[in-house]
Amino acid sequence: MQHLVDTDQLSLRQIRAILDDTARFKAKLPPPLLQDRLLITLFFENSTRTRSSFEIAAKRLGAHVVHLDPGRSSTKKGETLEDTFANLCAMGPDGVIIRHSENDTPARLAEMEMVPVINAGAGSYAHPTQALLDLYTLYEWFEGDLAGRKVAIVGDIVNSRVAASDIRLFRRMGIEVSLVAPKPFMPPATDLPRYERIEEVLDDVDVIISLRAQLERHKKPIFDDYAEYAHHYCITEELLGDRGILIMHPGPVMRNIDISDEILDDPRCMVLDQVRNGVFVRMAVLKLLLLDS
Ligand code: ASP
Repeated sequence: MQHLVDTDQLSLRQIRAILDDTARFKAKLPPPLLQDRLLITLFFENSTRTRSSFEIAAKRLGAHVVHLDPGRSSTKKGETLEDTFANLCAMGPDGVIIRHSENDTPARLAEMEMVPVINAGAGSYAHPTQALLDLYTLYEWFEGDLAGRKVAIVGDIVNSRVAASDIRLFRRMGIEVSLVAPKPFMPPATDLPRYERIEEVLDDVDVIISLRAQLERHKKPIFDDYAEYAHHYCITEELLGDRGILIMHPGPVMRNIDISDEILDDPRCMVLDQVRNGVFVRMAVLKLLLLDS
């Protein structure tokens, strides 16, 4: 049984198959490969893009989707998450897509080996389909030529599961990653190049991935004044000039703190391309896990 807790569970061959299937599905929608399959989405944290993207991906492949609202589920009545999951599995779904605030929840449920578990974001640990769609966005833009591309990740890196998954996947694909953040947002132990100012990397990167401050994961407020933070870390026209740097962000974007209004409308900004690609990437992931594994 194949799960997707993070992309290190995928072989390079499987990652290439996801990139290829994504490109094929984007060029032409496939027939309903997952007709009558059933997926359950179980989101214990808020989501705009990921949940709807998975749902649309599943439906485009002909699968049914049932969404369990954890706020109304029996975990609220004292049932353990494992028991809730086992009960859902007893109803015969073909996969469960889960988002949770704890880093190890998807891994714990996957270990039960009841159905394929797909991690849709776990704590600050991993968000594998976001990393895959970020990778695909680069793969398409650079026409498959990824090795040696330079990506700077800017923002609240230490609390970001997107950064964690991007870093692991990108390095495996030969992409060079550097980190730009103020001290409280910088991971303490890393062998990646670290910078405190964006200006230090601007002339040497192909891509900037901007991240929002993960306020819900801060035990106490880290900055009182995000206007001051924005002054140093917001991606603006003034900062970029005419450099051909691609700007990415997993969303939700904190406008004029992460990225300025003008840059969000700039052709170098890939935010909506990432969202568009996300549906096709998730179709490819569902095909791989439910059909090809
Ligand atoms: N949407 C992404 C996530 O769920 C990024 C974020 O929330 O900042 O991790």
